[in-house]
Amino acid sequence: MTTQVLVLNAGSSSLKYRLLDGITGVAEATGSVERIGEESGRLTHSVDGRAHVEERPVADFEDALRSTVEAFRQHGPAIDRDALAAVGHRVVHGGSSFSEPAVVDDRVLATLEDLVPLAPLHNPANLEGLRVARELFPDVPQVAVFDTAFHQTMPEHAYTYAVPVAWRDEHRVRRYGFHGTSYAFVSRRAAEMLGRTVEDTNLIVLHLGNGASAAAIRGGRSIDTSMGFTPLEGLVMGTRSGDIDPAILGHLQRTLGWSLEDIDRALTRESGVLGLSGVNDFRVLEQRREDGDAAAALAFDVFAYRVRKYVGAYYAALGEVHAVVCTGGVGQYSPDVRAAALGGLDRLGIVLDPERNVAVGRKEAATVSADGSDVAVLVVPTNEEWEIARQALAVVGEQDASGGE
Ligand code: ADP
Repeated sequence: MTTQVLVLNAGSSSLKYRLLDGITGVAEATGSVERIGEESGRLTHSVDGRAHVEERPVADFEDALRSTVEAFRQHGPAIDRDALAAVGHRVVHGGSSFSEPAVVDDRVLATLEDLVPLAPLHNPANLEGLRVARELFPDVPQVAVFDTAFHQTMPEHAYTYAVPVAWRDEHRVRRYGFHGTSYAFVSRRAAEMLGRTVEDTNLIVLHLGNGASAAAIRGGRSIDTSMGFTPLEGLVMGTRSGDIDPAILGHLQRTLGWSLEDIDRALTRESGVLGLSGVNDFRVLEQRREDGDAAAALAFDVFAYRVRKYVGAYYAALGEVHAVVCTGGVGQYSPDVRAAALGGLDRLGIVLDPERNVAVGRKEAATVSADGSDVAVLVVPTNEEWEIARQALAVVGEQDASGGE
């Protein structure tokens, strides 16, 4: 069976893609179409270490995907539809309906349509990507891989908010969690590094990128995670507040006359480290902090302290922890964040090695805890595209084996 997968990640105004082998993870080409529907779009196609960039308007997702196929034709490698095992789609919200990846058919599309109110910013773009890809590759299985699916194993007491229970039962208001493909990938890799089976490994995973979340993972199954009904809950992020007192919303509405849309925008796009310091790129934030900028120093501290609190909470949730795993741009590349979030926890058995912590190179996985540390601290680069391709291949293989179409 062929193992080549085209992975598509359709965002609100961008399309990212990667053509790769789902078994080895080796990418043949990768690219993106940005600023879809705006005055000027940007198309980037990278193959053999060379990036081909084009600036021109891209009308919509159909245009974006057709341009992508054209980029493959022009710059290579040509997409051989017979060699393509699947198109894997990142879908943000699978609600309670999907705990596994799904081969897309009309029924799955209808269920996804029904989930749009849960993720009004993300799911419509994902759906559009799915529809267009089905038209362009009618004979190739389209597989939806959900950010939420990994967390469907959370126990009821972890996913239920303490609000009138009808909110959950009639309006689907509960915690779902996100970053699931990253957690699936990183937890398998971490177990390998520890020389343990996934089933026998308890992890606290910190996915710290522009969006940031933490998860408590017991035996490969999520038992809690910091993002909730939406990706706004939990840790402090680049531009998102994370946890706040929900009564603040009413206060802003009453005292400033803000609409819910205003408040939503402020919490999602104007808060987090950006709201505190004016920048959301951690490299710039850390530079300013080093230069003595008090606002940048506070934003850093608020961010790292929130991570630290969740580490404590998830330690208690798990009871026994084999490793704390750091991933995402900040988790991987910021020794200062790791030190601030995980330093001084010797009594919990978490002992960072200061030299190892700063010596982690780019891209490589590394152990940054001291030799005697009961709980290992690992830095593991995530690879969501590979995980999507892997899961897409697995589900197509299962379907073939069961004699499905
Ligand atoms: P996304 O959530 O968009 O996938 P990433 O996981 O790529 O985000 O992480 C992006 C974040 O990682 C940015 O804030 C960026 O500044 C930060 N980052 C990247 N490299 C470094 C570095 N060397 N030191 C500190 N932060 C870094």
